[in-house]
Amino acid sequence: MQGVKVLAGVVGAAALLGLGIILGHFAIPKGANSPAPSISASQDLDLGILETIMEQLDASRIRENLRELSREPHLSSTPRDEELVQLLLQRWRDAESGLDSAETFEYEVLLSLPSREQPNSVTVVDPTGNILFSCRRSEENVTGEQEGPDVVPPYAAYAPPGTPQGLLVYANQGSEEDFEELQNRGIGLEGTIALTRYGGVGRGAKAVNAAKHGVAGVLVYTDPSDINDGQSSPSQTFPYSWGLPPSGVERGSYLEYFGDPLTPYLPANPSSFRLDPANASGFPPIPAQPIGFEDAKVLLCNLQGASAPETWQGALGCEYRLGPGFRSDGNFSADSQVNVSVHNRLELRNSSNVLGIIRGAVEPDRYVLYGNHRDSWVHGAVDPSSGTAVLLEVTRALGTLLKKGTWRPRRSVIFGSWGAEEFGLIGSTEFTEEFFSKLQERTVAYINVDISVFANVSLRAQGTPPIQSVVFTAAKQIPAPGRSSLSIYDNWIQYSNRSSPVYGLVPSLGTLGAGSDYAPFIHFLGISSMDLAYTYDRSKTSARIYPTYHTAFDTFGYVDNFVDPGFSSHQAVSRVVGNVLLRLSDSLFLPLNVSDYSETLRSFLQAAQQDLGALLEQHSISLGPLVAAVDKFEGAAAALDERISELQKGTPDPLQVRMLNDQLMLLERSFLNSRAFPEERYYSHVLWAPRTGSVATFPGLANACSAAMNTAPGSAAWAEVQRQLSIVVAAVEAAAATLRPVADL
Ligand SMILES: [Zn+2]
Repeated sequence: MQGVKVLAGVVGAAALLGLGIILGHFAIPKGANSPAPSISASQDLDLGILETIMEQLDASRIRENLRELSREPHLSSTPRDEELVQLLLQRWRDAESGLDSAETFEYEVLLSLPSREQPNSVTVVDPTGNILFSCRRSEENVTGEQEGPDVVPPYAAYAPPGTPQGLLVYANQGSEEDFEELQNRGIGLEGTIALTRYGGVGRGAKAVNAAKHGVAGVLVYTDPSDINDGQSSPSQTFPYSWGLPPSGVERGSYLEYFGDPLTPYLPANPSSFRLDPANASGFPPIPAQPIGFEDAKVLLCNLQGASAPETWQGALGCEYRLGPGFRSDGNFSADSQVNVSVHNRLELRNSSNVLGIIRGAVEPDRYVLYGNHRDSWVHGAVDPSSGTAVLLEVTRALGTLLKKGTWRPRRSVIFGSWGAEEFGLIGSTEFTEEFFSKLQERTVAYINVDISVFANVSLRAQGTPPIQSVVFTAAKQIPAPGRSSLSIYDNWIQYSNRSSPVYGLVPSLGTLGAGSDYAPFIHFLGISSMDLAYTYDRSKTSARIYPTYHTAFDTFGYVDNFVDPGFSSHQAVSRVVGNVLLRLSDSLFLPLNVSDYSETLRSFLQAAQQDLGALLEQHSISLGPLVAAVDKFEGAAAALDERISELQKGTPDPLQVRMLNDQLMLLERSFLNSRAFPEERYYSHVLWAPRTGSVATFPGLANACSAAMNTAPGSAAWAEVQRQLSIVVAAVEAAAATLRPVADL
């Protein structure tokens, strides 16, 4: 973010020039009324069609989609979720703007729901059991949308039932270090209730860490300093601003893994083998319940004990203390305890994916995938309906050309509306399990758009290196919303950039964790993936995420008034997605730039050499083979680029094009090793598995080194370092081999 203001002038001027050329290029009349497409094997991307689609993506239609999608709460597997399944089917089967086909795939999955008869509660009780204070059981009804039978009360999905009671302690973000800090200060944690705040570590990890230290129950709240830039009064929050109201509570899944908990690696069909829930793993070990900051304030501001460290303080308007227990001069007596009553139930429920297909004209057996989840926590206007509103507009624009006979993609395009994402990416994971082989053999790339607009300032893209160039190309061709003299690319580079050794200053492409449905596609199947959205100016807000995330305040009015009035950012995202999708589906040569992996491999290698080299040498482990493998990869990628440019000068033979495209497509697959991380579920990509070690290098190597660091030479931990290094060398060698001419091995 530094240097943004200085750059603005220079970048702006360059963008004006660039945009003139781009818009001129787009003005070539073609498309709408041309006859049915002639189908030839050398068919390439038609820029006229691309322009037509860019023009047809309409902000007001996206707004109407969003109004309908977010009209009612649509928690996974509820009647309204099923109604939206029907809505998607109807749109995708429309005679004038539908796809070739659309159908549902239903799974029987394990969800966790609060009990209607026995609502969860959090109370302060005195030694005789009198209730001195109760936290709210639902959010304040501010706009008339926060009440009703379909608004699920705040809860921590998959937290086990139980009614722990004990003295309250404050444990910051509930990380392992946070609990160690409390332990080191001599605060007894056994049997306590820990109040934690969202952020830092995942939801489930807070309960896992707490349980390790003997904590009996966990409360989680959102501090106004983390979400509202410190603002906390009702008049400063929604519906007067985009801020989170004091009663707002972030719901969420506390499951540690993704996918249906009872059918790991198997599709959750009714006939599938299921684990006994008692033997399934990944559930929080102790009861947990989220609360709003209005209630957290009453608990936290009455604690006794030492002051919490500076970085643990927040914006509730009091000094945060650690406990245990309340001070006697506050609202409660010193012997008052906190009771957490959780009555969540595990239930097998039916959840559907909706799949829509446009058949490819030339290569129907190659797939471009584009998806988003459908289920929300409450109305889910931002999450996920902002993404689904865009998905429906993109399919309408493409479907209209398809039905007119104007266009048919070169490759097949598969659209997915995933179910039960909020519980742990369940629908998308089951899809990858059911169609594992077919998808792995034939999928070119996966595009994910979940929350399409977090805020209306700049594009945000995450993905693996091969997709960087196609996102850049698309972003350069589309005007930035609200700043039409700049392209999305030139606007983006002002807010988020990095210095690339190959290209100089470029927008930064984020990496893919497991925050949305792209996770099974990249980590399990090894398909080049991306996640696209519009987002904040990080110099203007430190909000952890948009403030009403997973609350009953994430409504249509919230988006319409505060997130994206006019829906121009939604439109911008639809254009980027449409542009990227068409390039992937219609370009003769796949627009996957495999050379961009060289930069990543080089930087991982350098980090290993600089930060681990000496340590490895002490244990007689050489990075030499890795250096050689990275060199080989670089050479093979450059040679492949060369071959493609040569072929592009003439009229290439279709079989040769196909052979090279397969190499581009399969590169990502060559980084998979399903045996590399036996303690993980689904993670098999050697470059993007979770990294806990601090060195920014190959995750398996980083993690193994940090585990081995203080062990004796010859230990099992050092053997694991050697194994992980060999896994990386083999993967990079395999990747280089994938890029070399196929007949050469
Ligand atoms: Zn989402």
